[in-house]
Amino acid sequence: MNHMPHVLVVAGSDSSGGAGIVRDIETLAAFGVKAAVAITAVTVQTHHGVEHADPVAPDRVAQQMRAALAANPVAAIKIGMLATSATIAAVAKVLADHPDIPVVLDPVLVSTSGRALLLPDATDALLELFSSCTLVTPNLPELSVLAAVRGSVPDQARSLLTAGAKAVLVKGGHANGMEAIDILFQPKQPEQHFASPRLAATMRGTGCMLSTAIAARLAFGNPLSSAIAEAKAFVHGKLRET
Ligand code: PLP
Repeated sequence: MNHMPHVLVVAGSDSSGGAGIVRDIETLAAFGVKAAVAITAVTVQTHHGVEHADPVAPDRVAQQMRAALAANPVAAIKIGMLATSATIAAVAKVLADHPDIPVVLDPVLVSTSGRALLLPDATDALLELFSSCTLVTPNLPELSVLAAVRGSVPDQARSLLTAGAKAVLVKGGHANGMEAIDILFQPKQPEQHFASPRLAATMRGTGCMLSTAIAARLAFGNPLSSAIAEAKAFVHGKLRET
């Protein structure tokens, strides 16, 4: 057994390297955390579009997770693209056997180029997975699909808490304004804001990077809000480099 803390990444591959598991591994390396992986889907992508997305058999996803957990001291789990409701069910079963490991879920629904990365009929299954997660990190379009209510961002975010999420970080990258503001919602607690100056730059895979960076800091034992602050600073730094 390797004794360095590991983050288990449960996500899809992206042949272009712009998003998915490549971004996750790069991020973990930057934080000095070892990666273990369970690949949920193989995708064929350029930076302009998704040409194919082949889900891995759900049992095989669960087997990869169990093997990674047996081989390494996994201190946090990051979940990205899940592809199908059967894969979500398989992942949920493994998580149920490891309730003490923090889990960060990036609820990936659609690529920026418009391709579904989760089948539309799997949205309810994804909501059921929320109660197994420490943090869920929707962007604004994902929030409006997943929320049970129309209305304000706080109302929608709090509806995800009602659905079982222990904490919800709404990412403000798709909003307007001088600052990109992410807002953390937790039950019975005031909202917490994480702001950084909005940059003109765009980069693929920022959602993958943010959720993985949070998982990396949680693996080192950071409390949730400092893990988010450090992760946001990391992604901001990467955007500045583009
Ligand atoms: N491909 C995979 C495998 C992903 O996990 C994601 C997002 O998480 C994407 C593509 C979408 O990336 P983008 O919207 O930055 O193109």
